[in-house]
Amino acid sequence: MSPTPSLFEIRTTYENFEGRCPHCGFWNIFNRVSDLKFTRPIAGREMACLNAACRKPVWLTNDRIDPAFELLLTESEEFWHQKRYMLCVLTAAQAYEVFFVAVVYTWLLYRPFPNQRDLKLFNELSKLLYSKIRKYPYLHMRNVLFQAVLEEMKPQTLDEAHTLIDALPDKSPGVKREEIVSRVRGRLREDLVRLFDSKVNETRNLVIHMHAYRPSRMAAARVLVEAKKTINRLKHDLGPDLEFEDYANAPPDAGYGGP
Ligand SMILES: [Zn+2]
Repeated sequence: MSPTPSLFEIRTTYENFEGRCPHCGFWNIFNRVSDLKFTRPIAGREMACLNAACRKPVWLTNDRIDPAFELLLTESEEFWHQKRYMLCVLTAAQAYEVFFVAVVYTWLLYRPFPNQRDLKLFNELSKLLYSKIRKYPYLHMRNVLFQAVLEEMKPQTLDEAHTLIDALPDKSPGVKREEIVSRVRGRLREDLVRLFDSKVNETRNLVIHMHAYRPSRMAAARVLVEAKKTINRLKHDLGPDLEFEDYANAPPDAGYGGP
């Protein structure tokens, strides 16, 4: 235990670590990037209270370790309860996009890593993949996820992954609903079709472009409920482990091993 008293009533989000100072009661908001300069979960960290009249040391601990897309879903729900329906919709759409990226990184990079522990090549491929996808809009990134499933992009080694990453298209691959229906079976088909049918990006675009459209309570609820169901189910279909830490120290074949 640290002798420094901990922040209490902690609230942790993708961007911030918040809590109340045990000395003065001030609500501290530490931004992970700007204040903590650390974007991994905080195991334990001493900071000074942000209240200028206090400035006493406080201990940050008990951080959440959920993947980014799950933190964004939680935030989207919080926005809904606060009746901030525009932010609820924008954050739900962002959760989808962050989820697509997590799946593609996991399939193309994290899972082959235990079979070819070449950290230099891994970092090069990570940069290459990022340079490919950083400009992909929602539908392009979603279609790359569909393509990964339909074409069974399951590289066993980083060398195989390199070929697949090089071949990722500059234009969005056209994926038809019928392709998913005819080539995928069972629960995964049902979940991919639900994703295909989702109009979350159109609702998001209305909020951004159409005179800053304000969604109703019900419209935002539909987006949120659909996002939670679609992403949580697909996480189990396509993951469930979707972070590099899940594979970094895994034995060979852990990524695509098993039956
Ligand atoms: Zn304080």
